[in-house]
Amino acid sequence: MAELLVVEDEEKIGQLLVSALGANGYSVSWCQDGAGALAVARTGSFDLVLLDLGLPDVDGIEVCRMLKRQQPQCIVVVLTARRDEMDVIEGLESGADDYLTKPFRMTELLARVRAHLRRASVGEFVSEAFTNGELTLDPAARRCLVRDREVALRPKEFDLLARLASEAGRAVTREALMDDVWDRNWFGSTKTLDVHIAALRHRLAEAAESLEPPARVPVITTLRSHGYRLEIEVEPPVGGQ
Ligand code: CA
Repeated sequence: MAELLVVEDEEKIGQLLVSALGANGYSVSWCQDGAGALAVARTGSFDLVLLDLGLPDVDGIEVCRMLKRQQPQCIVVVLTARRDEMDVIEGLESGADDYLTKPFRMTELLARVRAHLRRASVGEFVSEAFTNGELTLDPAARRCLVRDREVALRPKEFDLLARLASEAGRAVTREALMDDVWDRNWFGSTKTLDVHIAALRHRLAEAAESLEPPARVPVITTLRSHGYRLEIEVEPPVGGQ
């Protein structure tokens, strides 16, 4: 479960954030000033911090700098009532990963939080091996095996499969795949995604069928105008007849 820290002095906003994030399955801590936030951050580790810039004690930008020094991997999303462009730039230069201007919509905030945590977990996935059916993906070694035969994938095909595997059994949108496998500044055609999926399917099927008996590999389902899903094979129950 992702660990979130909310740093917000306004009682009403803080409560709204804590309950909305909690309802979305995050574990949430709440601090109402900068000193408290830095103290909490020294004792625990957080995946993401929602940081109000207008705090009663320390300037939020300073809190952001110190947080990033303590926990460089922590994602900081700044909440600010300041609309001045210079403030936003200063916020991002202090190490913040993103910012939202108050007033903000809760749905927008939740979408940003989800997107940041998803990107972070794709990075984490890189060290974890994935096995389903007779497909094994070892991102640390960048190896893809079907049964015990190595399948040669192109770098983007490998990344795409690893990304789908990081949410196996779940729909992954085209936007998420484009953002994570290419990058968020990709301005080319998203047709490139379909081409890579087709190549990936072909290579996996070819590898599976070349074995005797043919290997079982999870299939990639197309979700029209939405994205793709790597299907999880249901394992036969252990000890069943
Ligand atoms: Ca405030």
